[in-house]
Amino acid sequence: MTKLNSKTPHGPLAEKWTNYKAHQNLVNPSNKRKIDIIVVGTGLAGGAAAASFGELGFNVKNFCIQDSPRRAHSIAAQGGINAAKNYPGDGDSVYRLFYDTIKGGDYRAREANVFRLAEVSNNIIDQCVAQGVPFAREYSGYLDNRSFGGAQVSRTFYARGQTGQQLLLGAYGALSKEINKGTVKMYNRKEMLDLVVVDGKARGIITRDLISGKIERHSAHAVVIATGGYGNVFYLSTMAMSSNGGAAISSWKRGAFFGNPAFVQIHPTCIPVHGDFQSKLTLMSESLRNDGRIWVPRKKEDAEAIRAGKLNPNSLKEEDRDYYLERRYPAFGNLVPRDVASRAAKERCDAGFGVGTGLAVYLDFAASIKRLGVEVIKARYGNLFQMYEKIVDTNPYETPMMIYPAIHYAMGGLWVDYELQTTIPGLFAGGEANFSDHGANRLGASALMQGLSDGYFVLPYTVQNYLAAEIGTGPIPINTAAFDEAENKVKERINRLLNIKGTKSPDYFHKKLGHVMWDNVGMGRTKEGLEIALKEIPVLRDEFFKNLRVTGTPDEFNPELEKALRIADFFDMGELMAYDALHRKESCGGHFREEYQTPEGEALRDDDDFMYVAAWEFIGDGVKPELHKEELKYEAIEVKARNYK
Ligand SMILES: Cc1cc2nc3c(=O)[nH]c(=O)nc-3n(C[C@H](O)[C@H](O)[C@H](O)COP(=O)(O)OP(=O)(O)OC[C@H]3O[C@@H](n4cnc5c(N)ncnc54)[C@H](O)[C@@H]3O)c2cc1C
Repeated sequence: MTKLNSKTPHGPLAEKWTNYKAHQNLVNPSNKRKIDIIVVGTGLAGGAAAASFGELGFNVKNFCIQDSPRRAHSIAAQGGINAAKNYPGDGDSVYRLFYDTIKGGDYRAREANVFRLAEVSNNIIDQCVAQGVPFAREYSGYLDNRSFGGAQVSRTFYARGQTGQQLLLGAYGALSKEINKGTVKMYNRKEMLDLVVVDGKARGIITRDLISGKIERHSAHAVVIATGGYGNVFYLSTMAMSSNGGAAISSWKRGAFFGNPAFVQIHPTCIPVHGDFQSKLTLMSESLRNDGRIWVPRKKEDAEAIRAGKLNPNSLKEEDRDYYLERRYPAFGNLVPRDVASRAAKERCDAGFGVGTGLAVYLDFAASIKRLGVEVIKARYGNLFQMYEKIVDTNPYETPMMIYPAIHYAMGGLWVDYELQTTIPGLFAGGEANFSDHGANRLGASALMQGLSDGYFVLPYTVQNYLAAEIGTGPIPINTAAFDEAENKVKERINRLLNIKGTKSPDYFHKKLGHVMWDNVGMGRTKEGLEIALKEIPVLRDEFFKNLRVTGTPDEFNPELEKALRIADFFDMGELMAYDALHRKESCGGHFREEYQTPEGEALRDDDDFMYVAAWEFIGDGVKPELHKEELKYEAIEVKARNYK
C-alpha cells in the first residue's frame, strides 16, 4: 500500500505556514519566464491562481469551458466569504475560525491545512478590498459582517446576495491585467479531456475546442486543476449546468488519488423539486437563515390541510408551528450547520409534517419584517426574494418561502498534500476540485475563502517550490509518445460515443443516474442502498454505451457530445462515491449512514476506526479502486462529539 505523505511541516501549528514560506525554494525572475504553468479553471481558485502566477512572472496557460473566465460557476455564489477579522468585536480569532471549521467538518480535515486557511483568510479580504470588491459596509464605513451556520460570531463578508460575482470580477480584473501583459494566455471554450503524464510527472493536457471540435495538445512544467465540484453527478443540484468532475476523473485515472469522494454537501435552503422537467435546483442563500425562521406545522392534520391548499400557512397560530431547529438546537437555532439543518428538514418531512409537495419546509420572514421593517429585509436579501418570486410565483414578503435540501457542494476531491500537490508530481489541485479543508461538511461562506486562499496565497508559493527543480528542464515538447497516447485515447472516447447511434439522449442517462444517486447515495445512506447503487450504476453504464444517441459530429459545436463525455465520467464518479460511502461505516458531517446514529438521530462518528482521509487509487475500468488511508491527528484541538445544542 502506497504511504500517503501529507508533507505537513514540523513545528507549532501557528508557525508552520510562516516557516514553510521562509524556507521554500524560489525561482528567480529570469527563470520564471522559461517556465510554463497550466491552470485549468477560471473560477475563484483558478482565476486567482492564474493571475498570481502571471504576476510572479511565469508563463501561464489558463483554460475554461465558458466563453469568458467570468462565467465560471463561482459567479453564482451568493451569501458571503468568511474571514477572522473580528471587526464586530464579538470574539472571533484565527483560532476560532480554525476550530469552527474543523468541528464543522466533523473532525475529518487535516489540522495544518485548516489552520493555514484561517490564517490567510484576513489577507483575502484586504486583497479583495484593494481590488475594489464592493463589500457591504455599515453606517460607519466599516465592512459589515453577518452570521453563517456553525459559528456563534459574525465573520461573513458579503456583497448583497452576489458575493461570488463581485469576488470573481475582482479576480477577473487581476487576470485581465496579466492577459494584457502577456504573462497569461487565455484559452476560452476549451475542455480538458485528459492529463498527460511524462516519466511520472504531469506535463500537459489534451483539450477539445468546444466551437470547432479540434483536439489540441498543451504542455507545461506543472498543471493546476481548479475545475470545481462534481455535485452534478446527482443531476439535480444547485451547481451550474457545466460543473463537472471530468478533469478530476481524468487525473484520477492517470494516477492522482481521490480523497473522500462520498463527502458531498446537501444545502438545507433550496427551492424544492417541482417536476420532472427541471434541470436545476435554485439555492436560497444560507444568509437568509440570519433573519428567516424555519418551521413546519406542529400537527399532521394542519400539514395535510396546507398541502391540500385548504389552509393558509399565515393563518396558523404560533403555538401550532414547530420551529424545529430552535427547539432541537437552542444554542445555534436556525444557524446550525448545513448537514444538521438538512437532516432535520428531512426528518420532519419523512414524519409527515412537510408542506408543498410534502418535501418542503417554511422559511419565514414575518417576524423579522415586523421587527426590522420590510425595507431592511429588502436591502439585505432583495435579489434573493426576487429570484424566489420569479421561480415560484409567490411573494415571499407575504407568504413564507418553501425550501428543501439539495446537493450543493463537494467536500471530496483530488487528494492533495499540504502543498496542494496530488499524488502525481507536478499536478496540483485547488478550490472545490481538491478535498482539502472542509472534512465531512463545509461551513457556509468557507468555499469562497478556500478558493481564494488556494489561488492567491497558497499555490503561488507551493507550485514555485516544486518548479525550482524544473529550471533546467527546458520547454516540454508535445510531439512525444505520451501526448500521442493521450490524444488518441480522447479521440477513441469521442468516436465510441458518436458511433453507438442508439435511441436515448445523454440527459436520459444523466437523469437516471441522478435518481440512483439521490435514492441511494444521497442524504440518508444504508449498506443495502449503497450495494444497490453499486449494482445499478454498472448496468446503467452498460446501457449508456449500448443505447446512447449523440447527434451531430465531433468537428463542430456539439453540446450533446460535451454532455455525453461528462456523463461517462459521472458514472465513474458515482461508483467511486458509493464505494467510499459503503466502506465508511460511520456517520460524519454530510455522510449520514442510517445504521450509525445516536438515539436523537444525530450523526454517530467512529473515531477509532475512521479518523482518516480515504484516498482511492484507480486500478482499472470496472475494477474496485484501492483504498489508502491518511490518518488524521488532532494536536491543537480536542476531538469531541459535535454539539450545537
Ligand atoms: C448557488 C451557489 C451559491 C454559493 N454560494 C456560496 C457562498 O455564498 N459562499 C461560499 O463560500 N461558497 C458558496 N458556494 C460554493 C462556491 O461557489 C464554490 O464552491 C466555488 O465558487 C468553487 O470555485 P472553484 O474556483 O473551485 O470552481 P468553479 O467556480 O466551479 O470554476 C470551475 C472552472 O473550471 C472550468 N472547468 C471545469 N471543467 C473544465 C474542464 N474539463 N476543462 C477546462 N475547464 C474546466 C470552468 O470553466 C470554470 O472556469 C455556492 C455554490 C452555489 C452552487
